[in-house]
Amino acid sequence: MNPAETPNHENSDNPFLTLNYEPALESLGDDYYDEVVAAEFPQHILRWRNDALLPCLGLDTQAVTDEDFITAFGKFQGRKPLLALRYHGYQFGEYNSKLGDGRGFLYGQVRATNGELYDFGTKGSGTTPYSRGGDGMLTLKGGVREILAAEALHCLGVRTSRCLTMIETGLPLWRGDEPSPTRSSVMVRMSSSHIRFGTFERLHFFRRPDLSKKLLDHVIEHYYRHLLGEKDKYALFYAELVKRVAKLVAQWMAAGFCHAVLNTDNMSITGESFDYGPYAFIPTYDPYFTAAYFDYYRRYCYSHQPSICKLNLEMLQEPLKAIIDPADLEAGLANFNEYYHATYRSLMLKKLGFEELSYSEADELLHLTIKFLQDSQIGYHEFFYEMARTFSPKWRDEPGLVLNTSNIVPASGTSPIFDDWCVLYHKILNYFDLDHLDTISRTLTNQNPQTALLRPLIESVWEPIFQADNWQPFYELIKKIQSGK
Ligand code: AMP
Ligand code: MG
Repeated sequence: MNPAETPNHENSDNPFLTLNYEPALESLGDDYYDEVVAAEFPQHILRWRNDALLPCLGLDTQAVTDEDFITAFGKFQGRKPLLALRYHGYQFGEYNSKLGDGRGFLYGQVRATNGELYDFGTKGSGTTPYSRGGDGMLTLKGGVREILAAEALHCLGVRTSRCLTMIETGLPLWRGDEPSPTRSSVMVRMSSSHIRFGTFERLHFFRRPDLSKKLLDHVIEHYYRHLLGEKDKYALFYAELVKRVAKLVAQWMAAGFCHAVLNTDNMSITGESFDYGPYAFIPTYDPYFTAAYFDYYRRYCYSHQPSICKLNLEMLQEPLKAIIDPADLEAGLANFNEYYHATYRSLMLKKLGFEELSYSEADELLHLTIKFLQDSQIGYHEFFYEMARTFSPKWRDEPGLVLNTSNIVPASGTSPIFDDWCVLYHKILNYFDLDHLDTISRTLTNQNPQTALLRPLIESVWEPIFQADNWQPFYELIKKIQSGK
């Protein structure tokens, strides 16, 4: 990557400017957005290009230059209109009617090679009518952290937005939670949609069921297409959204991820995970682990995430009641718990090596695993990685051999819970044929990478950037994450 300032590039040659953008949201009319102009920055240094996403856009990695990224997503040349989307939301339980894209806009929408419509949404691209006195900017560290979260979650199988690019923009920013002045960046997120629960909440606030219905038709047409011909498509949409959100939060929980700010303006109507601010991966299994320092009442702590997502879905019923029978909404939401638990159970069993486990001991194994992780405060990710690293067919021979070559677990006979866990794991292994053990070993390896994006690791790649503008550790970490190691 060339960190030098780059000359203007011919727009007509820029593959990002000749993509086939679809005015899907724009065509809904200006009740849903404001046209804005991007900030002009003193500097443009390309810091990240996510080449893994280019083939999804039908682009040849080799054919896209660093200058193409900068011209399109740092200078925003040749693309109009740029739309700040309007939305409201419940923030920490309080309704906020002053929200909206305050430091970003919808750059454009493109159909990827998989046939799905994606948004390019900016973060840190300047003020808008919704900036509420903020500077409209994103710190460089904020950009670095969001890139890492999205890649890590994606590689753990979580449905998430990803970052297409990040450009350092050369402004000094003042923030209470970073040593200031701190560096600035603009980031472009590729997501399935930027329509939020809060987009509907705003239309309800202004008593515009007509606009809600138009938006819901748009959502179904683009993101729930298979429901288009259905007589009760609206009820089916909500029931499916409930399932998508339940699945997503189960994925976060199994991945040991704490989103930190589950306000309804950060909940996507497509059930995709996005917007990573003060998130954290849990170091150990602590139900009350809270990632945002300003979350004084632990509202969005790790173990509250399922109930908070359910509550957000319930609050979304208010604006949807104008379109969908309340009885249908209730019936849709009633599936949340069962769907969440089934998905979480299946994902956790996979982390324990089992693609399928129909034996009655499965629930007991999960229960003991969580109890052991919570009581021992052993590293959450480390434990599963150690299972993958040290797995041996010998574990079938006797319980005392389970995990006995790992030095992170208690020695046999020193922890009753761990011993019970070993007895049960050993027993379950004996339900399988010897030649199935390879499959278990492979599942353990695939589900449990060594690299866990814990805060100290993020800080360890940020530090060289901060101290010496050395980006190598950051790039190496992404490479490791992307290779599933
Ligand atoms: P977030 O906590 O990132 O989901 O942001 C909540 C709201 O605050 C959104 O409407 C953002 O656009 C807005 N916002 C956050 N940071 C800034 C900033 N530096 N300048 C302007 N608006 C901001
Ligand atoms: Mg947000």
